Amino acid sequence: MNFIRKYFGYFFRSELTIKHKLVNVILGCALLVQIPSIILTIAVGTNIWGIIIQFLMAVFIAAILYLTNRFPDSLVPSILIATVANMIGFPLMYFMCGGYRTGIVIWMLFGAIFTWLLVDVKWSVVISVIVFCLLNGCLRFEEHYPQYVSFLDTRNDEILDTGIAFIFVTVIFGLIFKYQTYAYEKQARTLKENDEELRKLNEELAEANTRLESASAAKSSFLANMSHEIRTPINAVLGMDEMILRECKDKQILEYANDIDSAGHQLLSLVNDILDFSKIESGKMELHPVEYELFSVMNDCYNMIFMRAKRKELEFIVENDPEIPAFLYGDEVRIRQVIMNLLTNAVKYTKDGSVRLIFNYEKIDDDNIKLIVSVKDTGIGISGENQKYLFDSFRRVDEKANRNIEGTGLGLSITKKFTEMMGGTVGVESVLYEGSTFTVQIPQKIADRATVGPFAERLNHKAAQAEEDADKAREEEKKDRFTAPRARILVVDDVKMNLNVVRLLLKNTGMQIDLASSGEECLKYTLVKRYDIILMDHMMPIMDGIEALHKIREQADGLNADTPVVALTANALVGAQEMYLDEGFVSYISKPVKSIDLEAALVKLLPKDKIVRENG
Ligand code: ADP
Repeated sequence: MNFIRKYFGYFFRSELTIKHKLVNVILGCALLVQIPSIILTIAVGTNIWGIIIQFLMAVFIAAILYLTNRFPDSLVPSILIATVANMIGFPLMYFMCGGYRTGIVIWMLFGAIFTWLLVDVKWSVVISVIVFCLLNGCLRFEEHYPQYVSFLDTRNDEILDTGIAFIFVTVIFGLIFKYQTYAYEKQARTLKENDEELRKLNEELAEANTRLESASAAKSSFLANMSHEIRTPINAVLGMDEMILRECKDKQILEYANDIDSAGHQLLSLVNDILDFSKIESGKMELHPVEYELFSVMNDCYNMIFMRAKRKELEFIVENDPEIPAFLYGDEVRIRQVIMNLLTNAVKYTKDGSVRLIFNYEKIDDDNIKLIVSVKDTGIGISGENQKYLFDSFRRVDEKANRNIEGTGLGLSITKKFTEMMGGTVGVESVLYEGSTFTVQIPQKIADRATVGPFAERLNHKAAQAEEDADKAREEEKKDRFTAPRARILVVDDVKMNLNVVRLLLKNTGMQIDLASSGEECLKYTLVKRYDIILMDHMMPIMDGIEALHKIREQADGLNADTPVVALTANALVGAQEMYLDEGFVSYISKPVKSIDLEAALVKLLPKDKIVRENG
């Protein structure tokens, strides 16, 4: 029983197609029919050739059954069955087993229909036409040469043979059709079940997706809020520290204050990285293309890295193709950030030797170029294995060797994301212990066809001009220094320390400064005093800066309906500036506030008659 089940299972295994299973049913039935048919043929006394042919047919069917299951993907066995049975087997049987008065015509019909079940339409038509011709040929041949036909002994035998053929063919087709219906119904059921499962799976996926999206949004807003919260106290620390640097005369304390300043700025750039990262992740990062001068990017990168490289006794060289267009159109801030990330890494991960910054370009068309910037160092290098993970977020490679070097593993992933947002690519070539070359390629529009010229020459020229500029700058600074003892300023911030920072930063201007630590308190002041400028923090509990501004504008009996209000905020999100201007602020100063920025913003807004220049 087990044996039968095993073989039955084999012929109906799930990986077979319905058509294939059908072939198995047909061949199995034919084989089962063939055996009693041989017995019957012997019993009714057909001649020995008839028996031999039937026996050979049985062997042939068994062989085909084996072959179709051994090579399920091949069409050959099906075509072979159809051809051999129809063109050799049945015509031979016609002559050996009694001619048209027996069941052979039924068998030939069976063979033709059976072909349609086995092979494709094209082959079926071809074989059916041939079978039709063969049947016709046999009938005509029998008509003219009956001596070549081995007739059955009696009319009774012929009727019996026809009956047997009829019964077998009916049973076989019955089984085939039943099986076919059963198989299609089963498949339809399975499909329906699969459909249902897929639908459920889709629903679950959609749910999981929503959960993930909201988790990711929560993470991004957490990061954005965290960095905002961190920037606020850094603002206080750096502001107070600036006061120490300005007012203290003690050398030792100045040294401490300098350290606080550099650590504070480092912390700030870290927070900015996290903010950038969370903005990119949440899709809130936008590019702000502007027209810019390439030399100024080169020069800034040079100035910012030159001292760092010098402190580590590294040679720092800037090279460029002098033919690069001098004025380009693109997001200058992000390009600078990308190059600076690569340069700070190059200096960080190089003990001795040099760091090279190389600018090249490729022409895309008349209006566009591909800006190619390479940063080449002779540092610790990166193994081939580690290069694969280099641009992953929060991934620092070779942590053991780099444990003394500070970093978060965010720089390169931000670099890559910015570069890709600008339609560019970033790549690395590196040999462990020998050095690395990072190359970014960013498409930029040409804003002006003038060329940038050799950087080194322009830098020398610049150095000569530097003295002159420094003198001018000192003059300018003197001009910018002012006092305004008659000016009245209101500063609104919920963090006391921030209020103090602004007050102290503006101490030298001698302005009359009022401090309000909430929106409500601010509204009390604006009711009784007229101010020249109001500096307003954005994020405050209960009433935020925007609401407070609107209330000032609408305040009945208020004295400041048209006083310029400047947003003072640690919210460095994209679009912030536009948002503040839209809300009615006159400008926007980002924290941590520097006294220079603050004074520059105020001097623009104060009534001219209240400003007293130091130099007269
Ligand atoms: P990190 O803040 O750790 O510097 P980055 O994303 O900027 O983060 O860099 C990821 C890792 O890539 C670093 O931890 C360092 O191992 C490796 N790396 C980056 N730049 C260089 C370089 N110029 N030379 C050698 N290794 C580098």
